[in-house]
Amino acid sequence: MPFTPSFYSQLGETAEVTIVRVFHNNSACHAAQGIANPDRMPSTGGHRMCPDCLKLNTQEGASRW
Ligand SMILES: [Zn+2]
Repeated sequence: MPFTPSFYSQLGETAEVTIVRVFHNNSACHAAQGIANPDRMPSTGGHRMCPDCLKLNTQEGASRW
């Protein structure tokens, strides 16, 4: 399913909008989908989990269990 290894974007500080640094681990996350593969840093980076990924993970768990 849409679980994917944790990663975060190495971009962010220079964006026009302030991006709260988070890591993603759900490929269904729109924010995650917006991060190009070359920009994906394969770890949590010590960041918090993306709230959308968290919600998606929770929904996954709820529907499965
Ligand atoms: Zn996410």
